[in-house]
Amino acid sequence: MSADVETVLRAPQAYAMARKAIQAMEAHKVWPTPVNFELWVHYLCDKESPLAAEIDQLIESGEAFTDAVGEQLAAQYLPKAKLDGEIMQAGDALAQELDSVSRAIESARETSEAYGQQLATAHKSLEAEDATAIKAMVETLTTATQRVQRENRTLETQLADTTAEVSRLREHLELVRRDAMTDALTNLANRKAFDEALERTCAQAEADGQVMTLAVIDIDHFKSFNDTWGHQTGDQVIRYVASVIGRAGHPPRLSARYGGEEFAIIFPGEGAATALATLEEIREEVSSRVLKRRSTNEDLGAITISAGLAERRPGEAVSGLVERADAALYASKRGGRNRTSTADPVAAAA
Ligand code: GH3
Ligand code: MG
Ligand code: MG
Repeated sequence: MSADVETVLRAPQAYAMARKAIQAMEAHKVWPTPVNFELWVHYLCDKESPLAAEIDQLIESGEAFTDAVGEQLAAQYLPKAKLDGEIMQAGDALAQELDSVSRAIESARETSEAYGQQLATAHKSLEAEDATAIKAMVETLTTATQRVQRENRTLETQLADTTAEVSRLREHLELVRRDAMTDALTNLANRKAFDEALERTCAQAEADGQVMTLAVIDIDHFKSFNDTWGHQTGDQVIRYVASVIGRAGHPPRLSARYGGEEFAIIFPGEGAATALATLEEIREEVSSRVLKRRSTNEDLGAITISAGLAERRPGEAVSGLVERADAALYASKRGGRNRTSTADPVAAAA
């Protein structure tokens, strides 16, 4: 999606598109900040995208498009470019540090090479034995030794500084990497992290001949919930459901926000029966609590979720597993919601 927008904004129709975005923003009383502008250009470029669906929803609900809403949408739908920039910057800084270390090492190498040559010359003149010559030679050697010592001290300090800087950069990169893998609203793994983990877990299961199970979860009737209570309260519910899922989907399981109000859990080394038991616990916990609207303390009623799960078949491709879990979720929805379905019949858990 980003690539398309990038292209559109460098094509002949760019100004028309920019004007359209500004007009749409003005019509909906949205400030033309850079973030909002980017969001609205994406919106106009792809009306079918999840971002567009959310913006349509906001417009429909009449909720104000505040800076906070814009920031949240941007964090969810446009985070890549910003993070790429950060990673590039950290990479540049690291390269500069490494450059300065190799320059220091090179200079130390030159100094000790010169020192070696002086030693060799001294060795030759030792054979020439006269006292003044020996004295002069010792002086030369002392000066050269001091120089090497000074160089070494400089090198040591520089190495210590660099080590500190490199470990600071490593921590920063780790934070950036974690950000890039985390969903901003729920702190669960995001779609990118989920896709990578699913690939990895499937490959591992295939290599080890181990079982694994995939569960997909979707909040029931969330669109009408959003319409009734507004986007902000909708977010509160997404965070609540995510916290229940996150507690049950602890490592080595991986729980992720897969899309808007959709979640997934990967169960490495676990079959459908244990996954089903876990999903039923999650489902019951989610529906057992009557949520209150934070701003007004009104009762929001009970929230329910539907789930589908599939145990991986030997040799099955990632896409096949996802399709079967999705089909099971769809069966839960069709069957009346607030339930968990499995792709294959599951023997009753012991
Ligand atoms: P079903 O029971 O069949 O799942 O019905 P549904 O209404 O939940 O299904 P649908 O997928 O059509 O609706 C999902 C809605 O979730 C649409 C969108 O407005 C809303 N949504 C998606 N992402 C977010 C988000 O981040 N925050 C909020 N508040 N709403 C979101
Ligand atoms: Mg959905
Ligand atoms: Mg739903």
